[in-house]
Amino acid sequence: MHASQPKTTGDWQSSDHSHYLHPFTDHKELGEKGTRIITRADGVYIQDSDGKQILDGMAGLWCVSLGYGRQELVDAATRQMQELPYYNSFFQCTHPPAIELSELLGQISPPQFKHTFFTGSGSEANDTIIRLVRRYWDLCGKPAKQTIISRNNAYHGSTIAAASLGGMSDMHKQGGLPIPGIVHIEQPYYFGLGDGLSPDEFGRQQAQLLAAKIAELGADQVAAFIGEPVQGAGGVIIPPDTYWPEIQRICRQHDILLIADEVITGFGRLGEWFGSTVLGIEPDLIPFAKGVTSGYLPLGGVLVGDRVAQVISEEGGEFAHGFTYSGHPAACAVALANIRILRDEGIIERVKNETAPYFHERWASLAEHPICGEARSIGLMGAIEIVSDKTTNARFPKKAGAGGRCRDFCFDNGLVMRAVGDSMIVSPPLIFSKQHIDELVDKARLSLDQTAASLGA
Ligand SMILES: *Cc1c(COP(=O)(O)O)cnc(C)c1O
Repeated sequence: MHASQPKTTGDWQSSDHSHYLHPFTDHKELGEKGTRIITRADGVYIQDSDGKQILDGMAGLWCVSLGYGRQELVDAATRQMQELPYYNSFFQCTHPPAIELSELLGQISPPQFKHTFFTGSGSEANDTIIRLVRRYWDLCGKPAKQTIISRNNAYHGSTIAAASLGGMSDMHKQGGLPIPGIVHIEQPYYFGLGDGLSPDEFGRQQAQLLAAKIAELGADQVAAFIGEPVQGAGGVIIPPDTYWPEIQRICRQHDILLIADEVITGFGRLGEWFGSTVLGIEPDLIPFAKGVTSGYLPLGGVLVGDRVAQVISEEGGEFAHGFTYSGHPAACAVALANIRILRDEGIIERVKNETAPYFHERWASLAEHPICGEARSIGLMGAIEIVSDKTTNARFPKKAGAGGRCRDFCFDNGLVMRAVGDSMIVSPPLIFSKQHIDELVDKARLSLDQTAASLGA
């Protein structure tokens, strides 16, 4: 046998096209354009199969908080895999990594949380949420409280239940979603729906939609309200300050559980361990995933607040739910190492006190660009709205594909920025320095210039 030739980008692309079905991808279009093969990464840069270095403005998919190449996370996984690569927590068994992680999560999360249920992903966390809240109300003797209220354009995952909880119309169109017992209200998207109101008025108005929906259904039918503190995949939609306090008040008033989906906002993205703390939300349940392991291994879960934990664990008998990989030892070991690094290196404080304020100021400067209708940010998440006319915020024609163009220019300029329609979004690693922020903003501005020129704007 002679050593095989190293594969070229073309080889990878052709095998990829022949065999690999990608998530959320139009394969016909992909086959024409060709895939980018990412082969390595270090710190906040990824590298493709042609050796091109690209600044990762999305932290992978919102998850690589510590950046790439953290040896401590590799070591934690290696050690755990050598000692106990797998065991389950069914049938009266458990193991140290899951025990220690649930204890540590109890320490870093808001005071009402001392218990965790583990899953393999954010979608499974939200499936678990549905089963938990319905079980909870059953056990409380209110079995009619079954309906969960969510929001248009929310993203809660891609299983049948999680996609139903989400409010993505393109997902609902495929496969007969949503499933029964889940209803949606309009989102608090000020740039798109504000319609002349002040942000504060708009925030209150959108929260009142929850009260109206509860009145329509009857509070005795409603189990819970779920929302991302800041909608991520929907386009980094930052609600006005008046929104969450009003949602909180309405949930309390009608005795409805409040679920904050912190799959993106958990573990430091907004400058606190949980985004709920930043936005003044006191949820009963927090689904999490992504940043818990910095993406080095898959892990998700639900932080279960005392109110629900008490009923489920003391009064409920068996909760007939769980996954083979609930509390996977290697994933839990990586999460422990990841959380300890975030804590011991003061990374979240640095986001709060230094990098997020700097990012906010630099990112806001993009609003001066001729095709930018708004540049908003919170913590280390940001969005730019591409418009054809700044005075009216009119969009370019849909077929012009302004967002996709801008994303492609970004990539050519060595920056990963994601397009959601004509909103450009970023969510960089939490270890981003001020210099990285400068590089991101400079490349974003250049890409906006090129987008404008290519559209004749
Ligand atoms: C990504 C995401 C999920 C789904 O997580 P997966 O691990 O992809 O299943 C759920 N909720 C939010 C807010 C997310 O961003």
